[in-house]
Amino acid sequence: MDRGDGVCRHFDDRQNRCEIYAIRPDICRIDRQYEINYRPLMSWEAFVELNLAACQSLQQSPKVDLHSGKEEADQVDRQT
Ligand code: SF4
Repeated sequence: MDRGDGVCRHFDDRQNRCEIYAIRPDICRIDRQYEINYRPLMSWEAFVELNLAACQSLQQSPKVDLHSGKEEADQVDRQT
């Protein structure tokens, strides 16, 4: 679903939301992923906690240009 820059092609940058939220695929649905793959392994609460930690980690990670492999901070430094 990559639109070419690492962002999903269904993500609306202007509105900061999924354009197909109501019909998004199962991979985008934490509730479906839990039922399909994780219910035998852990509680719902533990699964949600893991997903929150993963989201927070991704939000704190430096953004990487998928074409060059360079972090955005590197690109900003070179431009200044
Ligand atoms: S929820 Fe899924 S389909 Fe929607 S923007 Fe995010 S990755 Fe894309």
